[in-house]
Amino acid sequence: MLLGAPGSGKGTQAEMITRHFGIPVTSPGAILRRERDLGTELGLETADITQHGGLVSDDIIVRLIEDWLRLHGSHGFVFDGFPRTIPQAESLQNILARHRTPLDLAIWLDVSEKTVGERIASRLQCQGCGFTTSLSSATFAERPVCPYCDGPLVRRNDDAAEVLKHRLQEFNAKTQPLAESYQKSGALRRIDGNRDREAVFGDISRLIEQAA
Ligand code: AMP
Repeated sequence: MLLGAPGSGKGTQAEMITRHFGIPVTSPGAILRRERDLGTELGLETADITQHGGLVSDDIIVRLIEDWLRLHGSHGFVFDGFPRTIPQAESLQNILARHRTPLDLAIWLDVSEKTVGERIASRLQCQGCGFTTSLSSATFAERPVCPYCDGPLVRRNDDAAEVLKHRLQEFNAKTQPLAESYQKSGALRRIDGNRDREAVFGDISRLIEQAA
């Protein structure tokens, strides 16, 4: 699992892990954005919370993860942004015990407030495929377009400065305590996430290879 503050690079690294190692990834945040865009009941029910930077109820998130694992979890998994609370971590422990699957690594991407502020302020995401990039590297012919699917690159509605503040408060209050818990279980590995994506991925790759 990949844990860390908003803008720590969880989504970027999850995508690189999937591409390099072929391990399927799931991200409750990405699922909820897609559901919102599709206008489903789940998307509409949670849109207000995500837009304002709150955390969606543990019940909803755990159900999403259970459904995903049932369908895709037999070849391992990468969780991007799950768990985010102690009750979610406890539910996950029960789910993995039922699947007889160990948790190999809880990778914590450490980032400074400065890094978070800069990354979120310039983050762009493809509306079509979810690819994430930055304003400086994405502008092509004066129009930010996705290099993979040509979709429009837009800012996430929860990346606004005042929403980010709330997301960071939620992270500090509800997610930070997970570090201690995974430290105790021996799964926690901390990585300096302030560096560029390749440097961070180099460290993550080594951890995955050692765990295999
Ligand atoms: P992310 O794409 O991981 O930044 O998540 C975007 C938003 O989705 C978060 O700010 C929350 O509102 C919601 N969300 C994602 N993952 C979780 C989770 N594990 N628990 C509760 N809410 C979540």
